Amino acid sequence: MKTLYLPANKENILRCADIIKSGGIVAFPTETVYGLGANAKDDNAIKKIFEAKGRPQDNPLILHIPYPEMAEELYSSVPESYYKLASVFFPGALTLIYYKSDSVSDVATAGQSTVALRMPDNEIALELLRAAQVPVAAPSANISGTPSPTKAEHVYNDMNGRIDAILDGGECKIGIESTVLSLIGTPTILRPGAVTKEMLAAVIGEVQLSKSILQPLGSGEEALSPGMKYKHYSPNAQVYAVYGNEHEIANKIAYHYDNFEKSGNRCVILSSEENSRFYGERKQIILGSRKKPEEFCKRLFSALRECDGYTTVLCETLQEHGAGLAFMNRLLRASGFKTL
Ligand code: AMP
Ligand code: MG
Repeated sequence: MKTLYLPANKENILRCADIIKSGGIVAFPTETVYGLGANAKDDNAIKKIFEAKGRPQDNPLILHIPYPEMAEELYSSVPESYYKLASVFFPGALTLIYYKSDSVSDVATAGQSTVALRMPDNEIALELLRAAQVPVAAPSANISGTPSPTKAEHVYNDMNGRIDAILDGGECKIGIESTVLSLIGTPTILRPGAVTKEMLAAVIGEVQLSKSILQPLGSGEEALSPGMKYKHYSPNAQVYAVYGNEHEIANKIAYHYDNFEKSGNRCVILSSEENSRFYGERKQIILGSRKKPEEFCKRLFSALRECDGYTTVLCETLQEHGAGLAFMNRLLRASGFKTL
């Protein structure tokens, strides 16, 4: 298949909306990561997404909507908490899960009785959704298991020849996927993101964190969010998450880097501005300031893609709260929970 590579101007957005309406699949920018979209009402189109990504069939897709009220046809009934949250966080990096209506395809939800909805905070994405006039099922536009794409060139590298078009809208503002919150029972964060537990709790009161956020699933344990059980975000190198306070981390990384190199490995450090001088001549990619976890989030996936060609990646860890929790969730999955 020939993949069109299109700058995101008005004409090309309309062209991509037409591709979606006629059953094709299109990668488009959002504020979190690039999505790979299909008409959520067209089972054949949705199947193309699973195929192009190599995504396991039991991992449900998020439906992207152009305005909050579209939930009324997609949920079986709309809970009060939905509108409270939508009025503060939509459009934005928050995905809300509730029981699905009969009109939602079982292929999109991978047979779950629930559906995940999000209104992205990106003008290109919103124009595309408004023009398509249907909910758009869209997971991240990468091959399953690789880091999510934050630039159109990442999508091109993974997806050229496998999808109908790529809309290039530049670099994603946030760089990691949305917060996923289930509104069933006590609201529960299934995947942390830029919208934090504290921000959600300020609007709806008690919010809990799913156990699987910072842990591998125990054997026999059911994933609340099926995506959590798969290995994710991995470059072709072993990633290690290195723990300690700012100075301990720097010392540990330098020590392990030198040992790994002595035994023939090619190492790279995902570092902070604060520690970068300490690492001296060792290879490093700076993620940002340790005081600004959002910078670490924005750079992580792109940096992991730059690590292909190395054997060993040593990455600084952050405190597990606020945006730091979202960063640690992605880092631990990229490392397969290998820590030092
Ligand atoms: P991605 O499309 O790559 O951003 O991944 C979407 C995430 O949302 C995955 O971790 C899915 O398992 C999760 N998700 C989507 N729909 C549901 C749902 N109905 N119930 C639970 N998790 C969901
Ligand atoms: Mg993904």
